[in-house]
Amino acid sequence: MRLRHIPGAEQMIEEHPLVIHEPKEKKGKWAEIFGNDSPVWIEIGMGKGRFITEMASCNPGVNFVGIERYSTVLLKGIRKSEENRPENLRFLCVDARELGEIFGKGEVGRIFLNFSDPWPKDRHARRRLTSPPFMAVYNQILTADGQVEFKTDNEELFKYSLEAIAEAGWHVREFTFDLYKSDMAKGNVQTEYEAKFAGQGKPICKLIAVR
Ligand code: SAM
Repeated sequence: MRLRHIPGAEQMIEEHPLVIHEPKEKKGKWAEIFGNDSPVWIEIGMGKGRFITEMASCNPGVNFVGIERYSTVLLKGIRKSEENRPENLRFLCVDARELGEIFGKGEVGRIFLNFSDPWPKDRHARRRLTSPPFMAVYNQILTADGQVEFKTDNEELFKYSLEAIAEAGWHVREFTFDLYKSDMAKGNVQTEYEAKFAGQGKPICKLIAVR
């Protein structure tokens, strides 16, 4: 993701009413934040927010949290959500490594990882969002029947993920190397990156992992 700094982004994020501040104090209190007991689904690395905003608009019975570590990128996502203002959407400006301190055990029903950074060098493998250290964090916060959904155009990262997820003790329930030619495309919501790559005719890979 190319980053063009927006002057004042940090402050705008700090003051924005839809951004959850002091998130570590909110652990175990997400039902209070949303004012209901609906399931909580999160997207890690939401980028400019197309996917999470559309998901929130289409699923009013679910609470959504968009997570992005860069304030400049998050601000673009928040502006996107302001176009249709779904009430069931909040944002966090944190690194996914911290999620075990922000969500309690079983507080999250689904985790979406969309077009995550590939970190192609072996020595950076632990930074990949499907690597065992991240899967351990997801294991802590997901409900017993919770799932991780991962989409990417990067076949190498996808093959790595199929192995790494199994290595972390999870089960890949469904996967495809060509989403648009598979049954998994039903109800698919595109992300910004996906629209670009699919528009170029690149196959999109998708997996769903459970424990
Ligand atoms: N999901 C969007 C899409 O599909 O259009 C954006 C994809 S972009 C390649 C990956 C995004 O994930 C970037 O905005 C990056 O800042 C964010 N990201 C990467 N690692 C992260 C982490 N550990 N915690 C939070 N966000 C992360």
